[in-house]
Amino acid sequence: MRTKIVAGNWKMNKTFLEAEELVAQVAEAMDTRKLDNKAVVLCPPFPYLELATDIAKDAKFSVGAQNVYPDDSGAYTGEVSPPMLKSMEVEYCIIGHSERRKYFAESNEFLAGKLDGLLKHDIIPIFCCGEVLPEREAKKHFKVVEKQLNESLFHLKKNEMAKVVVAYEPVWAIGTGVNATPEQAQEMHAFIRGLIGKKYSKKIADDITILYGGSCNAKNAKELFSNPDVDGGLIGGASLKAVDFLAIVDAL
Ligand code: PEP
Repeated sequence: MRTKIVAGNWKMNKTFLEAEELVAQVAEAMDTRKLDNKAVVLCPPFPYLELATDIAKDAKFSVGAQNVYPDDSGAYTGEVSPPMLKSMEVEYCIIGHSERRKYFAESNEFLAGKLDGLLKHDIIPIFCCGEVLPEREAKKHFKVVEKQLNESLFHLKKNEMAKVVVAYEPVWAIGTGVNATPEQAQEMHAFIRGLIGKKYSKKIADDITILYGGSCNAKNAKELFSNPDVDGGLIGGASLKAVDFLAIVDAL
């Protein structure tokens, strides 16, 4: 059965005290909400993971990291490994975000290694994919997303693929205030689910969670989430204020 998810990607925002306040606000508000078959995930920067996992122990939200290095350990100054995340009780990890692809030149092949590393340690990858504007304008968006899935995801075995969360994030919609229309989101999500069905099985495709990300907010979330293949959202800017984030959670 498909889990519906709203995940907040804080990116490089918040001081420690601000992070503490936001986590506490979400924890308190989640107390009165029901989670059946839904998950709410906070993805703060690395230094605040422990703060978040500590509070999450007695609260109705999970914690995700925003990045990871593929290997378990080694001479990779500044990096964080899957076993480190696991040892801090981190349950999810975003990988393949367009900002990582753009500013840190992360390739599809490198991301395949991150997926393997996370799955080896039983951390749920939130794998981001999506096209840039010129690719959509040239009507290449399906091909681009298919290549991302082929090169990063489709080496996985069936039992591994069943654990992955996919996030479709058209790059032109991230942080721009211009969200994909519900039709555009549904069309791409159905395409992604179809590819997974062809490569793996109908059951795996039916059960996999596919999130939409890109200027999703309290106003447009309900309409985006009402599509049959949109199973929630990966939320950037609107996850930085509890009231906005919780309104999106309530739209699920
Ligand atoms: C994101 O960065 O994953 C994202 C979806 O950002 P925003 O919601 O701000 O567009």
